[in-house]
Amino acid sequence: MKKKRIYVIMTLVLLFTVGAAAFIYILKSPFEAKRSPVSETVRKGAAEKMTEVDREKLVPETAKPKGIKIAIDPGHQGPHVDMSAQEENAPGSGVMKQKATSGTTGTYTGLGEYELNLDIALKVRDRLEKLGYEVVMAREDNDTAISNKERAQMANEAGADVCVRIHANGSESPSSEGALCLVMSQDNPYVGQLYGESSRLAESVLSSYCEATGFSNQGIQVNDTMTGLNWSEIPVMILEMGFMTNEQDDTMMADAAFQEKMADGIAAGIEDYFAHR
Ligand SMILES: [Zn+2]
Repeated sequence: MKKKRIYVIMTLVLLFTVGAAAFIYILKSPFEAKRSPVSETVRKGAAEKMTEVDREKLVPETAKPKGIKIAIDPGHQGPHVDMSAQEENAPGSGVMKQKATSGTTGTYTGLGEYELNLDIALKVRDRLEKLGYEVVMAREDNDTAISNKERAQMANEAGADVCVRIHANGSESPSSEGALCLVMSQDNPYVGQLYGESSRLAESVLSSYCEATGFSNQGIQVNDTMTGLNWSEIPVMILEMGFMTNEQDDTMMADAAFQEKMADGIAAGIEDYFAHR
């Protein structure tokens, strides 16, 4: 009699345990199933919280080729490269200018402009390639001796659709800060016809860059003395990413995590330009 009661109690306990476990499983499973790594990331919100691995998951490894070629010119080169020889600053102009200058230096960080330009340009290249653009680079190291005229010709001859020239600014005044772009004027006798598309490209890149970095937008300036602009046959612009002579700009631009934002902004600006072309 006692044994029978124990069996009944044990059976009831077993049934209850199995029932409760099944109930919990049914309750939880629909939520668990929906928690893919991507929705988990989206749920977390802010893009900066994403790890590199999460980003890889959101952007397919090989985007479809867009059939668009971008030339990127990281301004200047290492100081050990002799670029002191002269070249014509526009086709047939007779005005001679140094093949390339050595650029500015971070007053507070000591970083060379040529190094910063290349670091950002390589990050932009990687982003554009991932998005399906073909990218040609004027230089991929600090030792290449390529003049401003040759940079423009390289972009022309590569059949690039546009050329983005990456620089950083310097000023006598330590309070000068923010980003700006340089393009040719409408009246430029050599490349005036490129003004419309060049300034549209510059506007796109500059506003996207300033949005991504929080740097102030100092607008687009026209300049007809730039060899790299005057020899171009395609829309071209110079981005001056910030002032290396300003403490805040200089310090921020030398920061590795901030450089990712800078490159994000430039790549997104190029993407915007082609989305509206
Ligand atoms: Zn420069």
